[in-house]
Amino acid sequence: MKQFLMRSAWAAAALGLCATASARGLIPEPNANALPYATQSHPETLLLDASTAGRGFATSTMQIPVKPGPFTFVYPEWIPGYHSPHGPLVDVSQIKVSANGKPITWRRDKVDMYAFHVTVPEGVHTLDVQFTVLLNSAGSLRASPNVAVLTWTRVLFYQNNINYHHYYVKASVILPKGWGYSTALTTESRVGERVNFKEEPLAYLGDSPLDIGRYYKKVLLWHKGNAHMWLDMFADAPQDLDVPAHLLNAYKRVAPEALALYGSRHWYNYHALLALSNHITFEGVEHHQSSDNRASADFMTNPKAQLIEGDLVTHEFSHSWNGKYRRPWDLTTDNYQIPQRTDLLWVYEGMNQYLGDLLSFRAGIRKPSEYPQYLAMIYAQMANEPGRKTEPLIDLTTAAPFLYEASGQYPSIRRTAGDFYTEGELLWLDVDTIIRTKTHDKKSLDTFLHLYSLPKFTGPITKTYTRADIEKLLNEVVPYNWHAFFQRHVYEVAKRPPTGELKRSGWKLEYTAKPNPFIAAREQMFGMNYQWLSYGFNVGKNGALLDVREGSPAWKAGMAPGMKLESVDGQRYSPGVLKYEMDQAEHDHQPTSFIVAKDGWFHTVKVSYFGGPRYPHLVRIPGTPNLLAKIMAPHAKH
Ligand SMILES: [Zn+2]
Repeated sequence: MKQFLMRSAWAAAALGLCATASARGLIPEPNANALPYATQSHPETLLLDASTAGRGFATSTMQIPVKPGPFTFVYPEWIPGYHSPHGPLVDVSQIKVSANGKPITWRRDKVDMYAFHVTVPEGVHTLDVQFTVLLNSAGSLRASPNVAVLTWTRVLFYQNNINYHHYYVKASVILPKGWGYSTALTTESRVGERVNFKEEPLAYLGDSPLDIGRYYKKVLLWHKGNAHMWLDMFADAPQDLDVPAHLLNAYKRVAPEALALYGSRHWYNYHALLALSNHITFEGVEHHQSSDNRASADFMTNPKAQLIEGDLVTHEFSHSWNGKYRRPWDLTTDNYQIPQRTDLLWVYEGMNQYLGDLLSFRAGIRKPSEYPQYLAMIYAQMANEPGRKTEPLIDLTTAAPFLYEASGQYPSIRRTAGDFYTEGELLWLDVDTIIRTKTHDKKSLDTFLHLYSLPKFTGPITKTYTRADIEKLLNEVVPYNWHAFFQRHVYEVAKRPPTGELKRSGWKLEYTAKPNPFIAAREQMFGMNYQWLSYGFNVGKNGALLDVREGSPAWKAGMAPGMKLESVDGQRYSPGVLKYEMDQAEHDHQPTSFIVAKDGWFHTVKVSYFGGPRYPHLVRIPGTPNLLAKIMAPHAKH
């Protein structure tokens, strides 16, 4: 999954969200031991009327197989890929329950808000349940007048405590007139705007989202025998589908590069669904045979968008192997109500952050020669984050269900879920360079991934792992004290991010006045001003301070997030004025004087910083092999 990740530290968009957590008291823990009433020959049926999706809602109608007596149906809470109790219960409304045309009283559980209790009358074997699904809630907008991202786990109830691999649902959707659709599900029939899908185990249905929209383009990126990879784009405006040929060619190289990286395949037909809209929230969610990618309207037409977030599709695609096929044992559950343990996300997401980036560079979505500057940016970000001095990475992954929703001021002190992605990239690049160095470049992380994803071909199934399994497999690639390595970087407080990989790959970090192209692109896209390594703050639109680095010159002068820069040395704040005054201070060694506004008060703050602009760069260590170029070069035979 990719959420705001890198964005959180940059934009610090306060979403005003609270994490939804189910507090369970004395009722039995959720389990998967109940006999499922919905079978393949007698499935639950689900009709999603999405003809109103453009207006922000849809209507779900279900026939749930039941037996007379007390019965509990539930709304999905722990959705795979989200790593948190993310089922949007607040978007469920207008619930109606009936049987044979007669209303049946339902009651929500007093402790588990996701559970609904009814008493099924004698002679009744099917419960008719209907509710309205609101598609746009705070922080998660999924429908515009022209595009909607539909996820089955948001639009259904199912029998409590069943194993979702053995509980079947037959789903149908009614589309708005003239709209197209894409999904990894098998279409059985279509009548007018109604599409009927083949019945599937709930686990697979929930893993197969559906994008619908007025303007769409479906591109076959790759195929071999019966296997295909598609890019299915849905946009608010038709011109956003005019993808330049060179970019499309790069996306066509993604499947060959991923197949070369893993040496295996665990999907048959893969659909990368991509919603292009400024009215839908940026997100990426992984699935076995598809991914649900949502990006800005200009994502496929603006080179800057690809420079910044060109790993969106590759990250989610890589998850088909790493996350869906191979998954931490304690993150793997048998239904949506059983809580997921997230401690091993430093493998699931941390390694995937590295692999998603690596694939985007190897495929040519971004230029391999640009990777060192990208690495410099993320290294500087993690090295200059005060929160790391007290919190080990393992605490961030363990608390991920809450940290995904973390927002608000001081993201650098709070530490957020984005950290185990970003630091995960440094960690797994470190692993890669250790393997390469110890084996004189005969083996690499690719060697590990080939073993990790054996056997070569399976359908979309899941094979679990523990920390010990990962360390054992790494030892098969090259003997090393991997346990101590992960202990040091993940399980203990690590005051510095993994650092050995820089030197080992033939590069060293320097801070200079020359802008870093990845930082510059972010400044432009998000309308912010990066002064994290100089004064020690990041400035958003209109001069608002997004975050202030603990211990920096701005921090020492008393600056705080939420303050607004009104003026710099007497001139109204703008990035240009700040740059001018910073240059002046470098020469005359006089503190920069800011007027800041906060909650109706104005203050003058003098910041003593005389070092000029400061950006991170990687520079080559002469006479050493350039491992980064080797790692990011194309590997597949095209
Ligand atoms: Zn992910």
